[in-house]
Amino acid sequence: MCPVCRVAETISREAWLNLGGRVAGDESSFQVYQSAGCAACGGKGYGGRICLSELITIDAKIRKMIDSGKSTTEMKPTLRAQGTDFMRDDGLNKVLAGLTTVEEVAFAVPLEGVDD
Ligand SMILES: [Zn+2]
Repeated sequence: MCPVCRVAETISREAWLNLGGRVAGDESSFQVYQSAGCAACGGKGYGGRICLSELITIDAKIRKMIDSGKSTTEMKPTLRAQGTDFMRDDGLNKVLAGLTTVEEVAFAVPLEGVDD
């Protein structure tokens, strides 16, 4: 997002959790950013693109689930337990880093499936 006109905003722990954000400790709020739009970004609030990614390690347990036709939804808790960061996690980390907004991440990675 545009570094010139981005504005910090504080959201509650509850709002963060509702987005599918993860909490490591007893944080009561999280700082995210909104873009206002300025001359530097042509009023868009954004410049360039960032990439959201996830890396899934296919171990014996996951291989077995794939072979038995499990859906990604069924595999998610197992992947989560193995420490996998999903695309949404990556996106929300980039929200905290001030690289993008909650809205952009929600647009790219729907909330659906955030059940873990
Ligand atoms: Zn700007």
